[in-house]
Amino acid sequence: MKPAPFDYVRPASLAEAMRLLQEGGGAARPLAGGQSLGPMLNLRLAQPKLLVDVTGIPELSGAAERGDTVVIGAAVTHAAIEDRRVPDIGQGVLTRIAATIAYRAVRNRGTMGGSLAHADPAADWPTALTALGATVIVRGAGTPHAVAIRDFIAGPFMTALQPGEIVQAIEIPKLSASARWAWYKVCRKPGEFASTIAAVLVDPARGIRRAVIGATGDRPVLLEGDEVSEATLMQRLSGIDPIDRRVHGVALKRALAQVAA
Ligand code: FAD
Repeated sequence: MKPAPFDYVRPASLAEAMRLLQEGGGAARPLAGGQSLGPMLNLRLAQPKLLVDVTGIPELSGAAERGDTVVIGAAVTHAAIEDRRVPDIGQGVLTRIAATIAYRAVRNRGTMGGSLAHADPAADWPTALTALGATVIVRGAGTPHAVAIRDFIAGPFMTALQPGEIVQAIEIPKLSASARWAWYKVCRKPGEFASTIAAVLVDPARGIRRAVIGATGDRPVLLEGDEVSEATLMQRLSGIDPIDRRVHGVALKRALAQVAA
């Protein structure tokens, strides 16, 4: 199937992009790497009148260290992170996550902001960034505002974004020197979306003990402090298929073993 007709613009400034998106209302839509929106257009699941390509906007394309955080523009690609073309938060964590997303052709185009805005429950950044305690910088008609990622991902393919708002950037806290991180994914075939993802961050210097399970079919499951255990996860996932639940439990157990090693 071919997409329904649409217009395409690639503004060079954030102000122009915001003007186009706000004027277009629900009929205008941001386009980043097109790795999810492209198939949605082809299947006519999305039928925007106007696509506003955000990949030429400097404010969305850069990354920088800012105090105890790394700020990554929404249009930064997975490949740029994999290739260390942006600062890391420590221990090469972001690089390692990026390298496990799909395969290189997808990583060359797919962006961190697009992945968060799409909020596929099986995607990697929503789970990883929840575990890392990231903050999403949302841009609407006024000044940008910050939304904790646990509030930003509202459910499967649902976010806190309001019509006319975009993801401008993602702020990710740096790890302390003594932090331990584990990232454990199960994919049936290399490059496929995961059947389960377990991310664990133990950072005693910042008082953090956190585990997040992704690809459960819903928003990432967040466990903190004493909740971080396989038993609690099994309770939280009591409504899903028992075999899937078991697979998520095994992933968490293996991720916990990695941080304990
Ligand atoms: P687009 O497709 O351009 O946009 C996606 C949605 O986000 C659209 O609704 C768009 O309007 C909106 N959007 C884009 N940018 C913004 C913004 N800045 N602000 C607000 N809204 C915005 N991902 C994984 O995590 N793990 C995988 O294993 C994986 N496997 C994949 C395999 C294949 C074959 C493909 C095609 C994709 C796969 N992906 C996977 C998804 C991919 O990595 C991208 O992250 C994803 O497609 C979204 O990023 P994008 O930049 O392509 O966004």
